[in-house]
Amino acid sequence: MARVLFINAGSEGHINPTIGLVQELVRREEEVVYCIADQYRDRIEQEGVEVITFDIGKFVEAFLAGGRSPWGRVGGLLRTADIIIPSVLEQTKGKEFDYIIHDSMFGCGRLLAQILNLPAINSCTSFASQQHSFDRLQEQLSSHIPVEVNERAQQEFQHLASELEVKYNVHVGSAYEVSCNPAPLSIVYTSKSFQPDGVSFDDSFKFIGPSIVPRSSGPVDFAHVDTDHLIYISFGTVINQAVDFYKLCFAAFGETKYSVILSLGGQTPIAELGQIPKNFSVHSYVPQLEVLQKAKLFITHGGMNSTSEGLYYGVPLIVIPQSADQPMVAKRVAEIGAGVHLNQEGLTSEELRETAERVFKNKSMQKAALETGDSFRAAGGYHRAVEEIFAYKRSLGLNN
Ligand code: UDP
Repeated sequence: MARVLFINAGSEGHINPTIGLVQELVRREEEVVYCIADQYRDRIEQEGVEVITFDIGKFVEAFLAGGRSPWGRVGGLLRTADIIIPSVLEQTKGKEFDYIIHDSMFGCGRLLAQILNLPAINSCTSFASQQHSFDRLQEQLSSHIPVEVNERAQQEFQHLASELEVKYNVHVGSAYEVSCNPAPLSIVYTSKSFQPDGVSFDDSFKFIGPSIVPRSSGPVDFAHVDTDHLIYISFGTVINQAVDFYKLCFAAFGETKYSVILSLGGQTPIAELGQIPKNFSVHSYVPQLEVLQKAKLFITHGGMNSTSEGLYYGVPLIVIPQSADQPMVAKRVAEIGAGVHLNQEGLTSEELRETAERVFKNKSMQKAALETGDSFRAAGGYHRAVEEIFAYKRSLGLNN
């Protein structure tokens, strides 16, 4: 038995893949202390681990204070250090840990690993990044930003980094290190074949596939649903206040042969949607894994989890990216032939319906989705993740 400090922040996409991992760590008798935003306390506590929390309001405020430019986002991540680090140190005072597992993006895990002098494992819930691909993307995204905004954000980043280095006696490093928190072992929740340029990653990256465990989030009634023509639509749980898009879906699929389940991801009140067509079943939140096991098409924003979950169950996708890594995910889905990438700008209801009809008829797209699901399962999931973690522990001389 070893003691693990798990550092995460606060969104379903970063938490869901870690649930199976935590369950398996507990089953293998590891003692886990899990740091998470306060509203997820119950969700994690039910896995039999000790939970420590931080104030998500302050965290989000600090993150967004950096602004929306690519360098501003990196600065925003650094600004969260003063919310997370003192809180974790205070709540873990007097406790000893053997290693740390930290999110690849949020929670300043790489800095905490240095402060606590712990071996670190990176929990990567999106595609993995390497320095060169990160720098290339950062440069590409920065080219759309006014030069002076970019320069100011870069200077702010340098200034914040120097301040934190003095304050916490840590090495902050590059924008890549701040954004991706590289570690000697990275657990990546996708397969090497779905990861863009997967073969270029060294052996410290373990592509274990999506980490999927049953999650209870209420029943869904399939009694009046024609599962042969079932379309599931969800834009995830973060950037999903897309009332116009939901109405466009009504126009595309209302009064058609399709049965449609639409999840609003907990943020948009159903009343805002007006008249709902009879063949739609609209919910604030659904048990997505159950729905995907019956759906024949998933219209998604391309969140890494939703995409992985859809493909895991062999469901072809229409991906309409909204932000963050979603354009990259959409591109990859189209590249492997398991779905179609659409841009929301200028999208019409006719185009959406015609694309859906094409996907329903396209056997090779369905085959590609099923094969990707097979490759995901073959990657080993959370069982393999824990095997890799235990192998890493052994390499450090830590007993299982
Ligand atoms: N989710 C769910 N029910 C819903 C909507 C979302 O269970 O009604 C889950 C979904 O299964 C996925 C996560 O929320 O695990 C969303 O993560 P993703 O990375 O797809 O998108 P994000 O919410 O981070 O944009």
